[in-house]
Amino acid sequence: MHHFLLLFVPTLFISMRMRSAWILFAGMWLYYVALDVLMWYMEPLQPISSHALLALQVFNLSVVFGMFGYLSQFYVSSVTRAHKRLDSMATVDSLTGLFNRGHIIALSEKELARHHRHPTDLIFMLMDLDHFKQINDRYGHNAGDQVLSEVSQLLADSIGKQSYVGRWGGEEFIAVMPATDIDQSIASAERIRKGVESLAIDVDGERIKVTISIGITQYRAEELLSNAIARADQALYQSKGAGRNRVEVASG
Ligand code: GH3
Ligand code: MG
Ligand code: MG
Repeated sequence: MHHFLLLFVPTLFISMRMRSAWILFAGMWLYYVALDVLMWYMEPLQPISSHALLALQVFNLSVVFGMFGYLSQFYVSSVTRAHKRLDSMATVDSLTGLFNRGHIIALSEKELARHHRHPTDLIFMLMDLDHFKQINDRYGHNAGDQVLSEVSQLLADSIGKQSYVGRWGGEEFIAVMPATDIDQSIASAERIRKGVESLAIDVDGERIKVTISIGITQYRAEELLSNAIARADQALYQSKGAGRNRVEVASG
């Protein structure tokens, strides 16, 4: 009884195409069954002692146990890994590594629900790179992508642990900051604005400079998410109008 040879079965399916694996599988089955049937009618060639037989049996069992343990672990960890990958593909923007728009909306709705139960400070911040079209025009789309990715890294590093930052679209970003009051959010926004201003993004030896405009608003009890975001957008529009590379808080 060489049960450990069964190890070949999963190996076949892992290492080759499904069709070839099934053909080899059928071949192996035929070989094993034929051998087994043959052994049934034949006397053992070299009779072995019962001790050796027991040892062989224990060895066989141990190998089969080990093999199934290993395969189960392999199976579970590959399924878990695939799940994580899919999850991340659904929630994270591939260029910037920030949350995508859909996920930020979902997270914001959760914060709103929490706010309805226990009203606390909640800030929405919209950020938009200044004259970004010119960067694309001047240095090319790939350079533009690199700028987006480095600015995003800075945003992710600057935002507090309990806040979220996402890519709202194109060269526009959003931060959702629970348990943050207006003064704290202005301080963070200024830190981000200065941080972006002092970046020098190296693309093929050229150092690209960029600035960001920011609009901030505080969530008001019971209002729709779209309302709060529209207000942040107005503040952003004001900071564009007032010369860009600025932070503005929504008024009224
Ligand atoms: P403003 O200061 O008023 O915001 O000017 P702007 O040029 O930044 O704004 P505009 O909306 O005119 O242009 C945004 C540009 O961003 C246009 C678009 O091609 C570029 N863009 C959007 N998404 C991407 C992207 O994923 N990669 C690159 N390289 N460019 C992008
Ligand atoms: Mg822009
Ligand atoms: Mg824009």
